Parts: sequence; structure tokens; C-alpha cells
Amino acid sequence: MDDKEKLSNPQVTIQTIQKYGFQFQKRYGQNFLIDGHVIGKILRAADISGEDMVVEIGPGIGTLTQYLAEAAGRVYAVEIDEKLLPILADTLSSYDNVEVIHQDILKCDLRALLGEGKTCKIVANLPYYITTPIIMGLLEGHIPAESITVMVQKEVAERMAAAPGSKIYGALSLAVQYYADTYLAANVPPNCFMPRPAVGSAVIRLTRREKPPVDVQDEAWMFRLIRASFNERRKTLVNGLRNEPSLGITKEEAEEALTGMGLSPTVRGETLSLEQFAELSDRLRK
Ligand code: SAM
Repeated sequence: MDDKEKLSNPQVTIQTIQKYGFQFQKRYGQNFLIDGHVIGKILRAADISGEDMVVEIGPGIGTLTQYLAEAAGRVYAVEIDEKLLPILADTLSSYDNVEVIHQDILKCDLRALLGEGKTCKIVANLPYYITTPIIMGLLEGHIPAESITVMVQKEVAERMAAAPGSKIYGALSLAVQYYADTYLAANVPPNCFMPRPAVGSAVIRLTRREKPPVDVQDEAWMFRLIRASFNERRKTLVNGLRNEPSLGITKEEAEEALTGMGLSPTVRGETLSLEQFAELSDRLRK
């Protein structure tokens, strides 16, 4: 299909929406892309080839899907809004390698969908209201995805890629970086979407690591410790841990562990690296 006929042409998007009397649903985070250059940047970051199986989260009216269908071997597009299904049947009718799945991505069994032993690349302009549960579900659920290339709110992309010591570094940075390498591919202004979102956006690629960058005895417990450490951002790490009784750590134990690592007992969570959290976790886990 010629690019001018694609939905990335704003006129084609407007005509399609009018043809079906489609009403944008804010509750589903519906901001459709209307810029072919931005889609080009997403495709380049995702590095899609004819061999690839791609899972798209939230195809909308099929704007990104049309490009994915031309670049990939096969595309599974998971969409929650049933009102979009007849539109997708129309806009994707010339592609025989796309399957639209009417489901909530948070309830979708991607392993079963892909088939035993198969891997995929995940590509999406995400619904921003559930960015974190989607990303963490994909990473923690060990979904067989080589990479996840997504449009997210700019601030969230920056938090995912943040290094220790920066103001925005926190539990999300540590969780994402435990599972994946991050690459910020592009910043995208609101005028590239219809309707325009109130926030700036960015494309980030997460490439799954073969193995985590640190060894830790109890991964799940380390993440509970990390979340507690950032519970009260402007307080010390020890105070954060004291306010999470389910971990069962006394102030003295926490201070002793930090001192044993050569750190100050008044250190804040945002200064610790993943390696240091792994060591702290192994020292404090009973
Ligand atoms: N990919 C399209 C584009 O770029 O123009 C649409 C992106 S729009 C930001 C997000 C899409 O995700 C919408 O189509 C919305 O209906 C869909 N969506 C929202 N929540 C979802 C969920 N839980 N599961 C699957 N799709 C969802």
C-alpha cells in the first residue's frame, strides 16, 4: 500500500473515523498516530525483518499495524475495544499476515498465542494509563519477547532508563534494568497524535538480557526491598524499610547491613545501584 493511502496520512485517519462514526475512548488511552516519520523511527528501533513474529498491543484503527504487516513475517494485534474490530477488518484487509485478537493485553496468554518455543518482538504505541503493568507483566512474566519497543509518556521512558543518583531513578528503573537493556530512540511531540495527548511522548526499546546483570538469592524479595526503599522518596532508605513491616527488618539490622557495605546508614534509596540492592537483599533476607 502506498504511504499516502495509509492511516499515517491524517486525512485517511479522519475519513476512516468519520466513516465508522468512531468516538475516541479516553479510558482506553486512545491517541492514534498520524505521522509516518514517527512510525519509521519505531520500526527502525524495533529492527523488524520478514522473519519476525510481532505482537502489537492496541492497534487502534491499524495505523502502526499497516507498517508492521509490510515489514514482519506475522503480526498479532491485541485490541480491547470491540468498536475498533470492524474498522481493523477494513483497514487491514489487504494484509493476510495479520491476526487481530480481541482481548485485554493484561489477560492475554502470549505464550499460548505464539506457540511453544517461539519468540516475538513486541511493538506498540501503548495506552499510557497501564504502561507500567503492561511492561512489568511482560518482563516479570518471562514472555518470550526478544525486545519491547514502545511509545510511552516521555517522563516514564526517562524513568525506565534513569541511572542511580538522578532524581527520577526509582523502583521502575531498577526493575526494568534488571531484565532489559534500555535505549531511548526518539522524543515525540503531542502533534503527532490524534487527539493530541496532554503530555510529551518517547519511543523506548527494551532488549531482554540473556541473564540478569546481578546475582541475587531471592529476586522477588529484592524487589519488595527496592519498592520499600523508595516508598518515601525524601526519607532515608532505612526509614522506608521500617515503614514496611512485612519485610521484618529492624532499624538496627538495616543500619548494620548498610554500614557493612561501606554505606552511610542515612543513605537514600536513589543512590544505590542494582548491584548494591542485590547485596543488601542477600544480607537482610532471613
Ligand atoms: N496503535 C494505534 C496507533 O498507534 O495509532 C493506537 C494506539 S492508542 C495509544 C492505544 C490502543 O490500545 C487503543 O487502540 C486502545 O483501545 C488499546 N488498549 C487500551 N487498553 C488496552 C488493553 N488493556 N488491552 C489491549 N488494548 C488496549
